[in-house]
Amino acid sequence: MSATRVTIIGAGVSGLAIASGLRRHLGSAVTVDLLEAAGHPGGMISGVEFAGMLVDAAADAIAATPEALTSKLLAVGIGLPVVRPQGAPQQLIRGDRRVVLGDACTGTREVVGISGGMWRLAAELIGVAGPIRCGARVAHLRPAGRKWVTSLVGGAEIIADAVIVAVPPGAARQILRDVCSYPWPSFAPRQAVLLAYERDHVPKNRSTGFLRSAALRDSMPVTGLTWIDVKWPAAIERPNVAVARAVLDRQHNAWSDQQLVAMAVTLVADLWGTQASPVDASVISWAEALPAAPPPAERAPQQLSPGLMLSGSARGVTGIAACLDDAAKAVGHVLDALGADASGAAVGSVSGRTTA
Ligand SMILES: Cc1cc2nc3c(=O)[nH]c(=O)nc-3n(C[C@H](O)[C@H](O)[C@H](O)COP(=O)(O)OP(=O)(O)OC[C@H]3O[C@@H](n4cnc5c(N)ncnc54)[C@H](O)[C@@H]3O)c2cc1C
Repeated sequence: MSATRVTIIGAGVSGLAIASGLRRHLGSAVTVDLLEAAGHPGGMISGVEFAGMLVDAAADAIAATPEALTSKLLAVGIGLPVVRPQGAPQQLIRGDRRVVLGDACTGTREVVGISGGMWRLAAELIGVAGPIRCGARVAHLRPAGRKWVTSLVGGAEIIADAVIVAVPPGAARQILRDVCSYPWPSFAPRQAVLLAYERDHVPKNRSTGFLRSAALRDSMPVTGLTWIDVKWPAAIERPNVAVARAVLDRQHNAWSDQQLVAMAVTLVADLWGTQASPVDASVISWAEALPAAPPPAERAPQQLSPGLMLSGSARGVTGIAACLDDAAKAVGHVLDALGADASGAAVGSVSGRTTA
């Protein structure tokens, strides 16, 4: 048979896991074009350079038991040390004139992390996903008979038997504008503030941070703050530096970076009594973030038409564990369509035609 060609659009955790799964199951029976608009792969689990280290700006924890995460990682061909957080966040119970932390949050789902930081998951997936074309922004997708034509910004085109769209929903809507008009999941910009302090300038006993209580939803602009060096000690390479990450509520997008940093510094001062200025501060923005728990009703189907699939953020799936599961399903759909078994023997093409 002629080699099947599959285009994957977006190299976040979803696209990387799909590329790795296809390579593992199909080897040279499939040619994978993994296209990434940004200058580097990883999407929301990329590390950012901050205070002289790579630091997680978005996801740091995965809702899973250590055993469940380890088996999900093995399924995509990687083994990484899984760690538990060093404690639970407290609850922020008053945020008007005097901010007050309550008891540690209990009853939350079990979460685990990757020793050294979540960005190591991206780095490991990049190692098993095969070649990635960074700086390749997809403009548009159209069918051509039983094939799919992916047009890149700049004019290049790639013809494939199957395409898996693994970008955020706004980008997916743009790319698929001539193919389907689906009620795409709702999304909004999201920001986080990173602050680095000299560790001697902040209390030793800081807890891992806080989650905002429901009562403060309208008055407190951050949904939570994490002391990364407390929660995940191995994720902060510089022993003298303490790093806080405050994640902004979706409704506070109009603030300038300066205002956001000032607000986060004041919050740290009010809660932990430090008067020291941070040694570094940065605001990270994501143009399209889904809510933490999008309504399942807003989820788009995985298979849109023969040879065309959505995965992860594109269809309203959020969270790393759920994206890994969704990627495994997308790989399964491609294997089914190819009539391939897990050992890699493929007998057909994704569009359903039998190829000699
Ligand atoms: C602040 C924040 C905190 C979070 N915390 C957690 C957490 O603690 N635990 C957890 O499990 N989850 C968390 N999440 C959610 C989690 O990060 C995401 O659900 C997951 O990373 C999404 O992966 P993805 O690959 O589907 O999408 P993305 O990571 O968004 O990847 C999509 C990729 O597509 C690329 N792309 C976009 N447009 C195009 C185009 N036109 N052409 C080509 N490429 C394109 C993008 O550059 C990107 O690399 C958090 C998210 C945010 C924003």
